[in-house]
Amino acid sequence: MNLRTLTAERSLLSIFTITLVLLCGVPISAEEKPIWDWDKEEILEKVGRVRAGKDLTPQSWPDGNRVAVSLSFDVDTEPVWLAFTGQVTPSYMSRGEYGARVGLPRILRLLDREGIPATFFVPAATYIIHPSVGKLLRARPQHEIGFHSHIHENPLKLSADEERSVYKKAMEVVVREAGKRPVGFRSAAWDLTESTVEIVKEMGFLYESSLMADDRPYQLLSEGKDTGLVELPVEWILDDWPYFQLAWSMNHHGLRQPDDVYEIWKAEFDEAYEEGTTFILTMHPQVIGHRHRIRMLRKLINYFQTRPGVWFATHEEIALYVKEQSRRVEGSGE
Ligand SMILES: [Zn+2]
Repeated sequence: MNLRTLTAERSLLSIFTITLVLLCGVPISAEEKPIWDWDKEEILEKVGRVRAGKDLTPQSWPDGNRVAVSLSFDVDTEPVWLAFTGQVTPSYMSRGEYGARVGLPRILRLLDREGIPATFFVPAATYIIHPSVGKLLRARPQHEIGFHSHIHENPLKLSADEERSVYKKAMEVVVREAGKRPVGFRSAAWDLTESTVEIVKEMGFLYESSLMADDRPYQLLSEGKDTGLVELPVEWILDDWPYFQLAWSMNHHGLRQPDDVYEIWKAEFDEAYEEGTTFILTMHPQVIGHRHRIRMLRKLINYFQTRPGVWFATHEEIALYVKEQSRRVEGSGE
């Protein structure tokens, strides 16, 4: 092949690649294999980047309890609309405002009355928009503050450098507002980039809470190696948003009857109780904070309280406990 032919071929290849980029929006290498041609190693490499390691359910919970229950609230307010759907109009902003103005105080009154702790994942921008959020949470040190992005930006759209620097900036705000450094990380997208695990480790977090490989707490592996992070898994069936939130732009048509959701969550709890593991819920003040839904949550908490051996704990308490118990078992050679 002479130089002129080679140059012409390269030009054609470039035009082909540019056309693909323009058509698909992502660079696709002309040599990239179609998925059905991947061999076993390639399949295992693709699916195996971040995986579940050991089940970390301990042999027993503190004080002989049978199950660990942890309620979490993602205090997303306006940022979830601003960053995820690009909505800035007053109607969407007012829905976020409701979360801080009505939902959060209502949730805190319920938790105060029932005497149970919870974990609040608060984007830095929520503190900036609503100084009342920091004030209300600082007045209740029994609750944990977790890390949940700067302005609910989608990490899957960021480069590694952008993700690292936006989390650093967010952490400064959160530490100032919460009065301590959070130990729990929850991705705004409930998904991780190729860099997230590394960044989360660099930032010294104890646990991660965005993945779904189990109902039980587990060891988080990256490239087959233990990251040292505890994964406290989430699930869409244990999240108030898809059941209840009406969002045309996200194609969510919620507005379910709270009784339906009560039955699903109660059955999830009953099985967790039988299995002796964890029951972890994710809720949002602008969703669960509405009157009839808070009534359902109160009924659910009151049901849990009728069962003997329920440990109400923050995510941090659970992660610390399971990590410690796992070390002990390893130390004893069991
Ligand atoms: Zn969120």
